[in-house]
Amino acid sequence: MEYDIVIGLEVHAELKTESKVFCSCKNQFGAEPNTNCCPVCIGLPGALPVLNKKAVELVIKAGLTIDSQINNIAVFERKNYFYPDLSKAYQISQLVKPICVGGHLDLQNKSVKINRIHLEEDAGKLTHQSENIGTLIDYNRGGVPLMELVTEPNINSADEAVEFLTKLRERLIFADIAECKMEQGGMRCDVNISIKPKGSNILGNRTEMKNLNSFKSVHRAIEYEVKRQIEAKEQGKEIIQETRKWDDEAGISYTMRKKETSQDYRYFPDPDLLAIEISDEEVEAIRKTLPLLPEQLKEKYVNEYKLTEYDANIITKDKYLISYFEEVCAHYNNPKTVANWILTEILSKIKDEDEPIIKISPLKLAEILSLIENGKITRTIAKEIFTKVWENDSDVDKLAKELGGEINEDYLCNLIDKIITSNPKAVADYRTSDTPEKQLKWFVGQIMKETKGKANAKLAEEKILEILNKTQG
Ligand code: ADP
Ligand code: MG
Ligand code: ZN
Repeated sequence: MEYDIVIGLEVHAELKTESKVFCSCKNQFGAEPNTNCCPVCIGLPGALPVLNKKAVELVIKAGLTIDSQINNIAVFERKNYFYPDLSKAYQISQLVKPICVGGHLDLQNKSVKINRIHLEEDAGKLTHQSENIGTLIDYNRGGVPLMELVTEPNINSADEAVEFLTKLRERLIFADIAECKMEQGGMRCDVNISIKPKGSNILGNRTEMKNLNSFKSVHRAIEYEVKRQIEAKEQGKEIIQETRKWDDEAGISYTMRKKETSQDYRYFPDPDLLAIEISDEEVEAIRKTLPLLPEQLKEKYVNEYKLTEYDANIITKDKYLISYFEEVCAHYNNPKTVANWILTEILSKIKDEDEPIIKISPLKLAEILSLIENGKITRTIAKEIFTKVWENDSDVDKLAKELGGEINEDYLCNLIDKIITSNPKAVADYRTSDTPEKQLKWFVGQIMKETKGKANAKLAEEKILEILNKTQG
């Protein structure tokens, strides 16, 4: 039998705020365990939550990047369950009235429908140590603002799921909503999977795999689970709704617990928090802060800046490259040249680095490019200056004087005189030729050869013309 694969994703991302969502503790990864905590975020009885406005704004922003509708009233609810990483024994979340409803994210071949995005708090982090030590708890992460985005079950392959996550991540990073550092757990994904006979309208029972934290494991976990479900079906077994645990090392998943439903959590509105009121004006104000998305930027770079599709693609792949590119262009208005330098000189220096740092400020690169354009230095010298600035953050002007000074005008004119006198035939050719530009280029070529590329070609051409015209007659 042939089957359709049906996938729905629940994506969690930690929001980029200074402080936590219901207290003023720092939202910071990697601090000494249990140092960013207070009675609110460790859940002491009687401590009262106060909502962080920025977290709400970021969820609205996230909703706007996927065309969600923003609710004018959103409500926090308590999701009750006990686990040691959640000392209050309930998580403040949203069920009935989330901040964002609906929306879509378009992939290459389909538009994935979004069900909702809501705001909730993250739990602490457990680390299981050796038997003697037991399990350690770090509550620093408890109370960190999390957005949860839930898709409709209309993703139909592992590839589509990864494409979706990649695009979503790109947008969240772009709009400064979340950093989505996968290795730090900044973005995690639950994957719901079912199969049904091809073309059928009735969805099969789903299984859910929780907290996958790399796109690679999402892909593998889906492939594995689809295969498992098909094999079970073929053997006449029913798929039961359950939560499964993916073991990335072993490449298998196994039953963790029977699937709980929302009833199991005894949700009810949190009496400590007022409903959030969101006016249309507030939403519009936030919309104004949305940057262009990577796809929109790519279009702009190709159409307005005349970059090639290829170049535009590379630059818009990373946020830091875009902002670098934009900043250089702000000081030196020739995007094509800027893109060229980024793609060749800069990328070759940082391509193998995990956390690439561009060690030349946008202003300094712009200075170098302007010097070339104004004929003050040649490309060859520019590259030398570039390398020196990269290594020592040196002063561009000073270097230009030091290195560019070698080929000053007098030296250049002397050299031209020399070449003209020792090549009478070329001079004659120039005077009689139908295409004197070609002969002229030959002279420029000679100068470049003599100076090992350090002369300024534009200036050289001007001077050659001047001298040739002077010596005419
Ligand atoms: P829960 O909290 O129980 O996980 P949610 O409504 O938050 O429920 O999320 C359910 C997720 O499962 C959604 O992403 C939805 O698209 C997906 N889903 C629902 N039914 C199916 C199904 N039959 N097959 C695959 N995915 C499904
Ligand atoms: Mg779920
Ligand atoms: Zn706190």
